[in-house]
Amino acid sequence: MNRKLSIAIVGVGKIARDQHLPAIAGLDRFELVACASRNATVEGVRNYPTHDALLQGEPELDAVSLCATPHVRFEQARAALKAGKHVMLEKPPGASVHEVEVLREMARVAGRTLFATWHSRYSPAVEVAREWLAKRAIRSVEVRWKEDVRRWHPGQDWIWTPGGLGVFDPGINALSIVTRILPREIVLKSAALSVPSNRQTPIAAELDFSDEQGVPVHASFDWRYGPVEQWEIEVATSDGNLFLSEGGKRLAIAGQPVDLAAEREYPALYERFQWLIDHGEQDVDVRPLRLVADAFLLGSHQAVEPFED
Ligand code: NAP
Repeated sequence: MNRKLSIAIVGVGKIARDQHLPAIAGLDRFELVACASRNATVEGVRNYPTHDALLQGEPELDAVSLCATPHVRFEQARAALKAGKHVMLEKPPGASVHEVEVLREMARVAGRTLFATWHSRYSPAVEVAREWLAKRAIRSVEVRWKEDVRRWHPGQDWIWTPGGLGVFDPGINALSIVTRILPREIVLKSAALSVPSNRQTPIAAELDFSDEQGVPVHASFDWRYGPVEQWEIEVATSDGNLFLSEGGKRLAIAGQPVDLAAEREYPALYERFQWLIDHGEQDVDVRPLRLVADAFLLGSHQAVEPFED
């Protein structure tokens, strides 16, 4: 058995508390020894007010898991790699595509693992869907990723600032699944972004892609939806439709529900991180972020009514 890996969490916000802390607590191979947060402390570990203080105070630390907002991802990851740590990145892995590519090269040179996570890829439907679709003729893909921003991002101003992605913050989860389950690459053809007149990022987006063979892929992202969210991907094939719903917790093929394992996205992410560290490898797929960047590059902007939290 390999030795335990000491790990610290940086940024103790919603996702760190909801998912990362319980996931690490449930795994044998990681030991949470410290956290860095400007506002919060975590019981039972050493707490630091900043990421830099953490790196100075924990020279023996094996790894950090960066759970802050994407705006600070690059600076935190750069400093952690420089300090010789393995680094796990929450999604999105950066505020820009190029900074993630720079980090990947820095990690390679440093001989450290960089893991850019896409938690939705670890939902139970994803690998089953990928295997089934690999042998099918795909006719079209329809993505509906809609939720109530007030329910899922209460008081989070950063999502409305440049680098915060707006509705692409959840929408990128759908793109992380699409880029995993479809057998061919997709390319953005056009995008229409609806931006509240008092905000800087979109509240809704309509995206048209096509795959390498011209198969149409359409996505609708909307943050003005609810109370029940719609996180669905429907793939029409020559053998019937594949219908992934509840963000990948449910799957039906040709109208028949498929039995799936229980959802355990975050424990699976940490198991993958451990495997990558043990094998001296990296896992950095920028494609979902690149597609979002393309939407900002190609998208038409339409001002819509102001959004007040
Ligand atoms: P959040 O609750 O607003 O927490 C944000 C965290 O970012 C806080 O812990 C805060 O640090 C840190 N932060 C913000 N500005 C900072 C700055 N200038 N310098 C240093 N730290 C800063 O957000 P969240 O929902 O946890 O989201 C964080 C990341 O997780 C995002 O990339 C998001 O896409 C991803 N994510 C979120 C969810 C979800 O359901 N919420 C699901 C999956 C992934 P302090 O601890 O120092 O206050």
